[in-house]
Amino acid sequence: MIIILKNGAPKEEVDALCRGLEAQNIRINEVKGAHTTILGLIGDTHKVDMEAIEAQEIVESVQRVQEPYKGVNRKFHPENTVINVSGSLIGDGNVAVIAGPCSIETEEQIVDTCMQVKAAGANFLRGGAFKPRTSPYSFQGLRDEGLKLFLKAKKATGLPIVTELMSLSHLDLFDDVDIIQVGARNMQNFEMLKELGKCNKPILLKRGLANTIEELLMSAEYIFAGGNPNIILCERGIRTFETQTRNTLDISAVPVLKTLTHLPVIVDPSHATGKYELVEPMSMAAVAAGADGLIIEVHNNPQKALCDGAQSLTPKHFASCMDKCRQIASVLNKKVGTLE
Ligand code: PEP
Ligand code: MN
Repeated sequence: MIIILKNGAPKEEVDALCRGLEAQNIRINEVKGAHTTILGLIGDTHKVDMEAIEAQEIVESVQRVQEPYKGVNRKFHPENTVINVSGSLIGDGNVAVIAGPCSIETEEQIVDTCMQVKAAGANFLRGGAFKPRTSPYSFQGLRDEGLKLFLKAKKATGLPIVTELMSLSHLDLFDDVDIIQVGARNMQNFEMLKELGKCNKPILLKRGLANTIEELLMSAEYIFAGGNPNIILCERGIRTFETQTRNTLDISAVPVLKTLTHLPVIVDPSHATGKYELVEPMSMAAVAAGADGLIIEVHNNPQKALCDGAQSLTPKHFASCMDKCRQIASVLNKKVGTLE
């Protein structure tokens, strides 16, 4: 971090600023120019309150030269984080596949869909029990009943399950959930992130609808700083002016995130596009861009789905999407899902 001082800043005030920083174990390198004095801060500056310094009369501006996230930063942890859920891996260099319906509707629907995605090579199952819906009149999910049905699908397939937590008050219901999803709308629910930092389950953190890559990393940092390093990041499309797709898939977020952080990065082509026919090409693009995984909505009868039917693949289409992704991945010497 560097602090640029105003011209003519009184020496006593500069000294007081420096002493305050030194008390935080920061060393200071003062560079006096003809017109400007710059203080270079050396040490662990991630807890230094930039805004408080900037508010001081003698300070012209403050600039960070290093990212404000430390725990999730690749610079301090060059090796990739690999998430291991009972032997199913995310971040090991292959493409992990999480698949299943948007929401859990009936036992037949969830178990049948999950059996079919398993047959097509999915490593993990997805399904929403608590649904974040724009309208309070839309289907809100089967809640705790939905979780019970999802556990039946987990038992029938033997695959680990991923589902969204909408409120910390439901956390007790999530004991048998393998990966807790924090949805786009909760990416900056900082109290929730802090609490999830204390739990030992992997967290799938989705990028907010209108959040930058740095904001996503800062949210991951909350979970990491709380003591939970098992975080998977998910690019799921962001709001832009484009109306042809539900969101705009920021495919460049994948290589950008892979450079900035050691955490695994997966892509959700379903919510990114909102259209089932775009899911396969965007899945292939995600694999080509270096994603560690995909999370794809699949429904055994999309036309009857209670949520997100238009973006859901049939199990047959999902199997063909997996085939296409395997062809792309073979160029990169990667495996997609559980099938060779
Ligand atoms: C979901 O995965 O079911 C979901 C609601 O996604 P997002 O939070 O990305 O909108
Ligand atoms: Mn959905």
